[in-house]
Amino acid sequence: MDKLKRMAELVDLLEKANYSYEQKNEELISNFEYDKLYDELVNLEKELNIILSNSVTQKVGEQVASSLQKVAHNLPMLSLNKTKNIDELKNFLGDKMGLLTYKLDGLTIVLTYKNSELVQAVTRGNGQIGEDVTLNARTFKNLPIKIDYAKDLVIRGEAIITYSDFEKFSDAYKNPRNFCSGSVRQLDPKVTAKRDVRLIAFAVVESDETFITRSESLDFLDKLGFSVVSYKIVDKDIVEETIQQISTQVKESDCATDGLVLSFNDLQYSKTLGATSKFPKDSIAFKWKDEVANTTLLDIKWNTSRTGLINPIAIFEKVELEGTTIEKASVHNISILENLQLGKGDTISVYKANMIIPQIAENLTRTGPINLPRTCPVCDGDVVIRQENNTKHLYCINPNCSAKKLESFAHFVSRNAMNIEDLSKKTLEKFLALGYLEEFSDIFKLEKYKNQIIAQEGFGERSYQNLIDNINKARNIPLYQFIYALGILQVGVSTAKLICKHFDEDIQKICNASIEELIEIDGVGEVTAKAMVEFFNKYKSIIENLLVEVKFQSYKKVSDKLTKLTFVITGELSHFANRKALQQYIEQQGGKVTATISKNTNYLINNDINSTSSKNKKAKQLEIPILTEEMFLEMFSG
Ligand SMILES: [Zn+2]
Repeated sequence: MDKLKRMAELVDLLEKANYSYEQKNEELISNFEYDKLYDELVNLEKELNIILSNSVTQKVGEQVASSLQKVAHNLPMLSLNKTKNIDELKNFLGDKMGLLTYKLDGLTIVLTYKNSELVQAVTRGNGQIGEDVTLNARTFKNLPIKIDYAKDLVIRGEAIITYSDFEKFSDAYKNPRNFCSGSVRQLDPKVTAKRDVRLIAFAVVESDETFITRSESLDFLDKLGFSVVSYKIVDKDIVEETIQQISTQVKESDCATDGLVLSFNDLQYSKTLGATSKFPKDSIAFKWKDEVANTTLLDIKWNTSRTGLINPIAIFEKVELEGTTIEKASVHNISILENLQLGKGDTISVYKANMIIPQIAENLTRTGPINLPRTCPVCDGDVVIRQENNTKHLYCINPNCSAKKLESFAHFVSRNAMNIEDLSKKTLEKFLALGYLEEFSDIFKLEKYKNQIIAQEGFGERSYQNLIDNINKARNIPLYQFIYALGILQVGVSTAKLICKHFDEDIQKICNASIEELIEIDGVGEVTAKAMVEFFNKYKSIIENLLVEVKFQSYKKVSDKLTKLTFVITGELSHFANRKALQQYIEQQGGKVTATISKNTNYLINNDINSTSSKNKKAKQLEIPILTEEMFLEMFSG
C-alpha cells in the first residue's frame, strides 16, 4: 500500500480508538494492537518526514464529552513518552537519580486544597480541559477532605478501584479501570459513594514548600494523610534489577497498573528540562514488555451466559506464558472477532494483558472471520446481534433457553451459594433434559426419581444417597447464601451479606423491600435495587416454593469485638473446620474477611508463619502481623 495512504489510515484508526477508549470506556482494539499501530505510525512519520495535522502522535487528547462542568487546567497535563526497553530507561537516567513508581491504571485527577479544605477535583480529560468531579471526590474512600496545611496545595492522583473491591461488580463491568472511570464521572455523587473509589496521590503540582526531591514531596503528602503511590529510588545501575523485583510483585498487586513511571528525583533539574509539544522531558513511562507466543487457533467456542449473552472464546493449542500454560482466551465480542478475522487453523499470537488475563494480540493469517452461530449453541433458539455503542454482541433471545436455566442452576448449587456437592453441571444438564428440574425447589424433590436416577449410567445406590444427603444439608444454610444463590444481577456474596444484615436476617422483609429502602444500604446502588425488586416480583412463586424446603441458620452477630478489623486467611487450618468456618466466626464478631492483602488488612491468619508464600511476603512487606489460629484465638476469644 502507498505509505502515505497507510499513514492516513493509521491516524484515522488510532483516533477512533482513542476516542472510544477515553470517552466511552470501550476498547475497539487491544492495547497491544494500539501500541503496535502507534509505533508503525511513528516510524512512518520519521521515514517520510511528514506528520499529518490530526496525527495522534501530536495531540494531547480528544474533546471531552459529558455533561459534567468543564474546567481548564492551569498546567496542561501531558501524557508520558513511553518505552518497553529497559536500556532506554538507563539512557534516560544518565548519571541522575530517578524515582520509580507504579503507573496506576485508573483515572487521573487534579485536586486543589485551600484553607486546609478540598475545594476542587478535576479529571485529566484531554489534558487541557477536564471535568469537575469535586462532589464525587468527596465520597472517595480514603481521600482527606480536610488537611493540616492551610496554604494552597494542588496535587495529582489516580482514582482507582482495587481488584478486590471490583469483585462484586465484575458480572456487570469489564475491568476495574472502566468501572472506576464510570464511577468517578457519575452525575450523582451518591452513586460514586457506593463504588469504593480510592485516590492514590502521585505528585505535588503547587505548594508553598520548597522540595529538593520528588520523594520528599511524596513523603510530605503521606504525612498529610494521603494514600501515596509507593516509590523506589534508582540509578542506572540498579534500575533493571528493581524493575525485575517489581514485575514479580505486580502480579500480586490489588491495583491495576499498566506499567511504571520513571522520573528524575531532583525537582530543580526536572524543571529545567521542560517539555516537547507532547511529552514532559522529566518523566518516561515504562510498559511491561508482554511475553507473546504464537499458537494455532483450534476453534471458537460459544458460551451462553445466564443473561443470554453468547460470548466467543478462542480455543488454541496450549502455550506457556509468564510461567503458566494457557489454551483459551475470551474474544469479548463479535466486533473483535470480526476485526481479527479469526478462522480455524489461523496462527495467532497471544499474551497476558497486564501480565494476568490471556488475550489474543493479533491474527497472523486472517482466514476468517468464522461464521457466527445461527442459533444458540445450547437451546438452538433464535439469536440476535445487538449493537451496544460501538460493539456488536450476540444474544440468545429464547426466554426458556436452557443455558440460562443450566447456568442459573449451576450458580444456585455452587459453593458460595447453596453449596450442594455432587450436582455437577453435567448432572444438572441431564436432570434438566429429563424434566426432573423445572425450578430451583425441584432439587429438593429429586427423591421422586430415585429409581430412574439409580438406573442411570454413572449413578449407583451409593452416589444417589450421597447426592440426597448433600441436598438435605442445603436445607439449612445462612440466609445470605440463599440470597446469593438466586442469581440476582449484581448481588454477589458481599452484597447479599449487607442486605441480610440490613433487614435483620428476615427473608420476608427482603422480599418486600422497596427500591428506596434498598438504596439506603451502603453498597447497594440503583441498578442492584431495581434488579432485586423486579426479581422478587417476578419470581414470587419460585421463592415461596423454595421456602417450603429451606430453613435459615440464625446468623446474628454474636459480639462486636472484631469490629473494624479486616483479616485475610490462608493455608491449612486445624482448629476451625475450614476457612469458611473461620470466616463465619470472624464475621459473627463483627469483623471482615477479604481475599487479598492490602494496606487495609489488619491481620493475616496463617498457621505457617514462616512460609514463603506470596501472602506472607506481602504481609511482611506491609508490616501486617501474621497470626496462627492459636494466636488469633488467644488474642480475640477472651
Ligand atoms: Zn439459548
